[in-house]
Amino acid sequence: MLVVRLGLGMLRRKMPQRNNTKRREEYAKNKEEINRKRRARNNTEEFKYKKRLSEKIYRDKNKEKISEYNKSFSRKVRERCKELVFNHYGRKCECCGENHIEFLTIDHMNGNGRKHRKEINNKLYPWLIKNNYPEEFKTLCLNCNFGRYKNNGICPHKL
Ligand SMILES: [Zn+2]
Ligand SMILES: [Zn+2]
Repeated sequence: MLVVRLGLGMLRRKMPQRNNTKRREEYAKNKEEINRKRRARNNTEEFKYKKRLSEKIYRDKNKEKISEYNKSFSRKVRERCKELVFNHYGRKCECCGENHIEFLTIDHMNGNGRKHRKEINNKLYPWLIKNNYPEEFKTLCLNCNFGRYKNNGICPHKL
C-alpha cells in the first residue's frame, strides 16, 4: 500500500479497538500459545470463508460510509504528499513569487513534464517523494507553468 511505502505511518487507518485490560493481561502471559492457536484457527477454510462473508456483509451494509472513509483517507494522503513536496521544493513560485498553495504546482525543468506525468499516471507528488526529490523539479505557479509551456519553456514574465 502506498501509505506504508511512503512512511506516512501517522495516516495509517485506525480501527476502533476494544479496551479490555483483562484480556490483554491474559494475552501478555500466553502470547505464543494464543498466537499459535489463533494462526491455526485463522488458517481453516471455514474461518476464511466466514471472515470473507462477514466482511462482504459489512461492506454491503456500509457502502456509503466506507466509500466516504476511503475518499477522505486518500484526500489526507494527497494533502500530506503535497505538504512534503512543497516543503522540499519551496512554497512559492520561483518565477513570480506566488505563494498561495492552491496556485502552486511542480514544474519539470527540462520541459517534458506532461509526458512524465503521463508515464507515472499523474501521481507526481508520491513519485517525487519515493525518488527522493530529484533536482530537476521546481515550484512554479500554474500561470508561470502554463506560460512556460506556451512559450517554448520561457515564462512571459521573463520576456
Ligand atoms: Zn508564477
Ligand atoms: Zn512567471
